[in-house]
Amino acid sequence: MFKKILIANRGEISCRVIKTAKKMGIRTVAVYSDADRNALHTSLADEAVHIGPAPAAESYLVIDKIIEAAKKTGAEAIHPGYGFLSENADFCRRCAEEGIVFIGPPTGAIEAMGSKSAAKQIMEKAGVPLVPGYHGEDQDEAILKKAADDMGYPVLLKAAAGGGGKGMRQVWSSDEFSAALAAAKRESKKSFNDDKMLVEKYLTGPRHVEIQVFCDSHGNAVHLFERDCSVQRRHQKVIEEAPAPGMTEELRAAMGEAAIKAAQAIDYVGAGTVEFLLDSDGSFYFMEMNTRLQVEHPVTELISGQDLVSWQLKVANGETLPCKQEDLQIRGHAFEARVYAEDPDNNFLPQTGVLRFLKEPEQGDHIRVDTGVVEGDEISVYYDPMIAKLITWDENRDRALKRLQNALAQYNIGGVVTNLPFLYNLAAHPAFENAELTTGFIEQHNDELF
Ligand code: ADP
Repeated sequence: MFKKILIANRGEISCRVIKTAKKMGIRTVAVYSDADRNALHTSLADEAVHIGPAPAAESYLVIDKIIEAAKKTGAEAIHPGYGFLSENADFCRRCAEEGIVFIGPPTGAIEAMGSKSAAKQIMEKAGVPLVPGYHGEDQDEAILKKAADDMGYPVLLKAAAGGGGKGMRQVWSSDEFSAALAAAKRESKKSFNDDKMLVEKYLTGPRHVEIQVFCDSHGNAVHLFERDCSVQRRHQKVIEEAPAPGMTEELRAAMGEAAIKAAQAIDYVGAGTVEFLLDSDGSFYFMEMNTRLQVEHPVTELISGQDLVSWQLKVANGETLPCKQEDLQIRGHAFEARVYAEDPDNNFLPQTGVLRFLKEPEQGDHIRVDTGVVEGDEISVYYDPMIAKLITWDENRDRALKRLQNALAQYNIGGVVTNLPFLYNLAAHPAFENAELTTGFIEQHNDELF
């Protein structure tokens, strides 16, 4: 096993990786910006290297600085976490060139999934079911519009380079098409410096169900079941759970098989997530594959009893997968709520300030809090304002949800406005208790959640 790894990230995910590395007897190197000099991840690691000013573009995103830090400290491998450089093919390639192991998939797999349209072309060939739509190279407005007209409205325009829900527009009729296309292209150009578009059938009231896959470098692949991430705001996940309510064994097997097929089509290695839309009639469609560890991986860990970061480290070290498919079993039910510094009463505007008071719910077998901050830390303008992930587990959904509700009620944060009251209202909503999940849940119940 590696003797020392560098974590090219910050916040909770950096702390999460350090925790498993410590358990496995691996030394850790943190990197930190000016703003993170006293951050939790900086102090938890065995060593820490300063990599520049607070803005990520001048620190956490600078490939040269990360590589230099790894070389200087003798780290043999780099864990990229999520966000930042985690899905950057140039970074992955550079690690290989420098003789440093990238704890993630090969460059080719990142590249293949980097564009939603190229990804759909690959998946189409591999026989993975797709959301009906146009994902061609020709970007003539007339061709895009004809695709939409032929398919029938509503359609969804989606940026091929997209992520984080940006560059998406619903179009409800033919005469709205041109204006919506222009707006989606503008947003995409601004966010991703690319304005290539996909046209998809807009499914009304689907669920977002994703499959966790894992592949090793010896050709073995398994899935670790599904997560339901339907509860979203502006196409961003708010509460996730595993397993997905109402899932049948047949559907789970079919989606698991499709996800493995998707991973194998791009010679995948490591942890990956294949995202599907699940329609009310039980049809499911490939949306995209995320080639990294996901924010919501803890719910899978709690229902499978596996440590996904340790799997990542073993696979990166060239070992075979720790388990075969038949050895994996679902036990109980888990939820994750994303606790954010944002103001639900002011359009969820991100908040900054010092965490003057911070009391987390008591952790144990049923409650886990993954965080990168302690009382007195500052939530700054520079990074994603997530404060923590609250994860709960119990034998069944009802009990795990009770745990979530109680834990949210116990969570107490002062000094910065948070989304805790909103999360509580969501978790305690009768329709959520009834698992009436669709991606439109928040919009549909909006008036009852504040
Ligand atoms: P991003 O990469 O920006 O997160 P995704 O393609 O993963 O974009 O889609 C994000 C969310 O948008 C999905 O979880 C789903 O809620 C919604 N969505 C995406 N495609 C469709 C579609 N064709 N019909 C309905 N909703 C969709």
